[in-house]
Order: sequence, then C-alpha cells, then structure tokens
Amino acid sequence: MINIAIDGPAGAGKSTVARAVAKKLGILYLDTGAMYRAMALKAMREGIDPNDKEQVLPLLECTEIYAKNIGGTQHTYLDGEDVSGLIRTPEISRGASDISAIPDVRIKLAQIQRNIAHTSDVVMDGREIGSYVIPDCENKFYVTASVDERARRRLLELKEKGRDNGMTVEDMAKDIAERDYNDSHRAFAPLLRLPEAILIDTTDLTIGEAVNAVLKNLKNIGAEAHK
Ligand code: C5P
Repeated sequence: MINIAIDGPAGAGKSTVARAVAKKLGILYLDTGAMYRAMALKAMREGIDPNDKEQVLPLLECTEIYAKNIGGTQHTYLDGEDVSGLIRTPEISRGASDISAIPDVRIKLAQIQRNIAHTSDVVMDGREIGSYVIPDCENKFYVTASVDERARRRLLELKEKGRDNGMTVEDMAKDIAERDYNDSHRAFAPLLRLPEAILIDTTDLTIGEAVNAVLKNLKNIGAEAHK
C-alpha cells in the first residue's frame, strides 16, 4: 500500500501539494480537514458550541462522515448530504479547529481515515497523519510557510469565492496564528513536526517546486513516480 502523510499548519499549501502528488501517482487524495469541518458544521447547525465537549459527545454517535472521490475531486458527506460547498467559511474554520481538540472527535475521524489508508493507496493531508493516524507510514512530510504568506494565500482563496467578508490580511494572519496555537497546543494528537518528516517550506516555492520536493523524496513507491 502507498501511504503518504502530509502534515502542517493551515494555509501552508498542503492540500494543493497533496492533491497534485496524488494525481501524479494516480492514487487517492484525502483532505482530512474537510472531515473536521463537516463535524463542526453539524454542531453549529444544532446550535452546539464546537468547544462544548459535553454537548458534542452525544452528537458523535449520530453523525456519519465520509468522503467520496468524484472525477478527481473530494466530496465530503455529512449524514448523507454533500456539504463540500458549505464548509469553507472562516466560521467553520474556527469551529473545526475547536472541535478537533476534543479527543473523541479525533478518535472517530482518525479511525475512518486509518481504514482508508489500510485499504487504498492514498495521500492524506492533515495535522497528525504521520504521528497519530498512520504512524507506520514511510513517507512523511511537514509542509509549512510563514504566517503572512499563509494568510495572504487563504484570503486570496476566499476572495476568489466571494467569501472574504471584508477580512484584511492582518485579520486572516491573526486567525491563522490562533489556529496554529490551538492545533499545536491541544493535549491529544497535536500538530507537530516529526524528526523523520521531510520539511518543505513553501513560502518562496511555486506549487510545482513544492510538488517536486515531495515526489523526489518518496521511498518505496516504484520507479514510475520518480520520472
Ligand atoms: O486543513 P483545514 O484548514 O481544512 O482544517 C480545518 C481544521 O481542522 C484545522 O484548523 C485543524 O484544527 C483541524 N484538523 C485537525 N486534524 C486534521 C485536519 C484538520 O485537527 N488531520
């Protein structure tokens, strides 16, 4: 099985790089953040604060989250509804960051992700794929970039979709710094840079350069990918 783990903070370019690597290798790409976003959407729709562990726990038992690849694009389903278009807002970003700090949420979603990794060749991006979801994986990467560059990219992405709600780069940088703090300080399966993960700083790299940096460092995946 080919398993590739791409971890790193928000807006570092992980998903763009992971998607391109998966396409190049002809294997599945799984955006694990979308699953946390779907879980946050569920809580918020029910009027539950994503920080409120007591209220979130009972929700977990009656929530079904899965991802499907349709024409090379991931669609994320919440209780059978395709919510892919609803989960890319700043509110859901914050909600996902909050809800992901609840250990039972992580245990449930990590189990779904682990099952996919055990049955399919996959590139996964997230925060703790290499440290917690599939620690035996041979190909681990840590993709990062400066906070300002990540803020600039995220804002551009939202602007393109008309969803920036008048946010400035400074607002976005503050948001991203808070999420970084949340993600790396949670007690259970935090974002961390593993010593064995190959570091790719995309601040001054083009997408193509970052993708090549991953491809040329892959181990045991056959000669095809190195061409
Ligand atoms: O990657 P993305 O920005 O879509 O993730 C949304 C939030 O979900 C992150 O800020 C992070 O808190 C959480 N997340 C996580 N573990 C993952 C993927 C995402 O905790 N594997």
